[in-house]
Amino acid sequence: VANEKESMYLVSEFAQKYFHNVLMHTDEGKAIGYSYFKERGFTKDTIEKFGLGFSPDAWDTFTMEALGKGYKLDYLDKTGLTIVKEGKQFDRFKGRVMFPIQSMSGRILGFGGRILTNDKKAAKYVNSPESEIYHKSKVLYGIFHAKQAIAKLDNCFLVEGYTDVIQMHQAGIENVVASSGTALTPDQIRLVNRLTKNITVLFDGDAAGLRASIRGIDLILEEGMNVKVCTFPEGEDPDSFAKKTPYDDLIAYLSNSAMDFIQFKASLLMKEAKNDPIKKAELIRDMVTSISKIPDKIKREIYVQECSRIMDISEEVLFNTLAQLVQKDI
Ligand code: ATP
Ligand code: MN
Ligand code: MN
Ligand code: MN
Repeated sequence: VANEKESMYLVSEFAQKYFHNVLMHTDEGKAIGYSYFKERGFTKDTIEKFGLGFSPDAWDTFTMEALGKGYKLDYLDKTGLTIVKEGKQFDRFKGRVMFPIQSMSGRILGFGGRILTNDKKAAKYVNSPESEIYHKSKVLYGIFHAKQAIAKLDNCFLVEGYTDVIQMHQAGIENVVASSGTALTPDQIRLVNRLTKNITVLFDGDAAGLRASIRGIDLILEEGMNVKVCTFPEGEDPDSFAKKTPYDDLIAYLSNSAMDFIQFKASLLMKEAKNDPIKKAELIRDMVTSISKIPDKIKREIYVQECSRIMDISEEVLFNTLAQLVQKDI
């Protein structure tokens, strides 16, 4: 129903303005939310650009405000801004700093809300639920602010989180989007594919980030795109790294440490396999599996040659392995 969707967009837009106003102009918002963002190193311009906000730390302050302005409870419920339970209404994001999530064209689809304490029992981030207007698997955080730079620079940096996108922008790198916690999906990759064929994955320097990079690579290759990977020192993510690195050094790091996916896999797996022949055999199969995802036959051949060189394995063996994986068209 077109009308229902439009009503959901409108209440989301109202919420974004409301949370932003609370952050910038109320005592509570300034003392708690704004100072939190300042501590993370975000400037006022950055906070404005991304429309960041704060949701009051009270059960239903936002909900009452929205109802008072004539927004219907039904749409507050459907967008997940309000949790309706047993006839009672609660603000979903109470006491959290707010990251509005925008579509390619800039409409507000949903929110991520971050807790301010280090309470390990509460979820660090709460996100809007899946809805008529917010399909998580089809959205990339930051795409609205990144699209021009992605097309112009013909490359897209893919990071994990909201703060990674924002800190990179502030550092002067605008061609960056985040999968925001959900495992990367083909639809998300296709959004980027409309703008460039080149993705550089910049995931966190921890075990989870590494695993996510490896999973992401094959998906990106399957879409016929080129993928590079840039890793960060243990414990760093693009946010923390960009914050402490001067612009020139950051640019140099991103270009010098970006590896083609085949080099990335090789170096990662070599570290694990050392000289164990069984592990090495597994890793070669793993690399050839990635190569088999590439739709273009000529590209596949080039990567086989590259892999042969890096791993010091004959091309013939690699082609045979590949042939088992790609039954047709070889
Ligand atoms: P911060 O720097 O604020 O701690 P981050 O982006 O570095 O945040 P990570 O733990 O690296 O956080 O997680 C990456 C992304 O995964 C987050 O930006 C968020 O979108 C998502 N995420 C993390 N924790 C949760 C959670 N508990 N629930 C839902 N999504 C989460
Ligand atoms: Mn992480
Ligand atoms: Mn992180
Ligand atoms: Mn972080």
